[in-house]
Amino acid sequence: MSGVSVTKDAEDAVPTADLVVLSNVNKHFGALHVLQDIDLTIARGEVVVVIGPSGSGKSTLCRTINRLETVDSGSITIDGKPLPHEGKELARLRADVGMVFQSFNLFAHKTVLENVTLGQIKVRKADKKAAETKARALLDRVGVAAQADKYPAQLSGGQQQRVAIARALAMDPKVMLFDEPTSALDPEMINEVLEVMQQLARDGMTMVVVTHEMGFARSAANRVVFMADGKIVEEATPEEFFSNPRSDRAKDFLSKIL
Ligand code: ADP
Ligand code: MG
Repeated sequence: MSGVSVTKDAEDAVPTADLVVLSNVNKHFGALHVLQDIDLTIARGEVVVVIGPSGSGKSTLCRTINRLETVDSGSITIDGKPLPHEGKELARLRADVGMVFQSFNLFAHKTVLENVTLGQIKVRKADKKAAETKARALLDRVGVAAQADKYPAQLSGGQQQRVAIARALAMDPKVMLFDEPTSALDPEMINEVLEVMQQLARDGMTMVVVTHEMGFARSAANRVVFMADGKIVEEATPEEFFSNPRSDRAKDFLSKIL
């Protein structure tokens, strides 16, 4: 790394330690105050697991970071820059912020390989050959290289979800958001997806993971964020959180799932 320059403009600013910063974020759905004064800072390379009861606002939180949802007030910055509102800038932001959903959301009429090359070509302006080389390497990394020429419906759920991870990684995201990535999977396929995520965490990817997989939280998370009723109720290391939750809401939640 070269030295820090304070005179450069925002475009080529040196990387900030804090990659994702939400400050005093509020969001309503009609009368429902779904995100309430959310302050959350995610450092580069940090793995944050978000847990909490259904309806507490976890998915909405993820979606605001990717600007799939707008916010009513407060600010969100990625790598020191506010979220763009529209156009090419927004497409680039979406590529910088990889997202993996519960439902795999692959393009059904494209092959696995095409699913992983498309964004590289359209958004990152990669040429086809380079995009395919990179896609094959990523498919190999997530263990589905042999499925490259198949269509999503020909793959198991676990394989499809690993393709979805490879597709997001193909954009060289700065941060990866996972919203209950294993919730729709048959039990025997959960681990193959969690293992890919574990490896990603070990490789230093900045990750926000909404999950009910407490084993993953214990082994991969730097920090657990517990949400209830649109608020961050508690933040702690996994060791602290699981052995000594402070709030009654967290104690109650943990007593139901552990
Ligand atoms: P979680 O992911 O923690 O289960 P969500 O963020 O999905 O919670 O939802 C939080 C609350 O916001 C829920 O009460 C949900 O019904 C409501 N909600 C989510 N999306 C919308 C929407 N597009 N319109 C209206 N209400 C919504
Ligand atoms: Mg959700």
